[in-house]
Amino acid sequence: MRKKIVAGNWKMNMTRETGLSLVDEIYQALGNNADSGVKVILAPPFPFLFEVRDWVHQENSIFISAQNCHHEANGAFTGEVSAECLASYDCNYCIVGHSERRLYFHEDDELINLKIQRLLHNNISPIFCCGESLDERENESHFEVVGAQIQSGLKGLKKNQLLKVVVAYEPVWAIGTGKTATPEQAQEMHAFIREKLAEVLGNEASQVSILYGGSVKPDNAKELFSQADIDGGLIGGASLDSSDFLAIIHSF
Ligand code: PEP
Repeated sequence: MRKKIVAGNWKMNMTRETGLSLVDEIYQALGNNADSGVKVILAPPFPFLFEVRDWVHQENSIFISAQNCHHEANGAFTGEVSAECLASYDCNYCIVGHSERRLYFHEDDELINLKIQRLLHNNISPIFCCGESLDERENESHFEVVGAQIQSGLKGLKKNQLLKVVVAYEPVWAIGTGKTATPEQAQEMHAFIREKLAEVLGNEASQVSILYGGSVKPDNAKELFSQADIDGGLIGGASLDSSDFLAIIHSF
């Protein structure tokens, strides 16, 4: 059966002091979460990723994710971090295709696909983000847009590789805006994404976790997570507050 996942994307927020105290609050509250049925993933900025890992790995209750990686194995790419480097530190996950990377760093589906292949080669699970803009939602091309992102972003992956991918549907108009897709809108898109995955995976598409992201908060998480094809959330703003993040984890 697929995993339920709550992942916190801290983006470019927190310092060592505030970040580690946030992790401590989450860790103390969750204790050994291994049996709760919800996998908790934290994606802090690079400098303290591995300090966080050392802190939480003791009980294997919380997993870590990078927020980005380069698509090449190594080389003269000042400021970049490779999947090889992440793997050598036992990084479990890496976010790819986030709309902020697509928008501000001009990452396209082809590049995202290369990053995903590089991550899988290093046995790191990509958290692959897709989602339409407000214009695309309003002109009703959202299924076409997300379908194309899935098609190109996951191009060429073999079944066993695809089963390691976590998909995050994040309508761009809902990220950091306080607007959330209705549970029905989100469920409709998640079911569509699962159908796309089934074109390669057949019945095994039911094993892929598909997360919703976009202004998930304690007061809307329960209804979103109760939808048949929503397997958890990728949480931005609300992951920076331990009580909000914990309340979201406990919404299952
Ligand atoms: C995100 O950036 O992935 C995200 C979902 O952000 P927020 O929860 O703040 O909308």
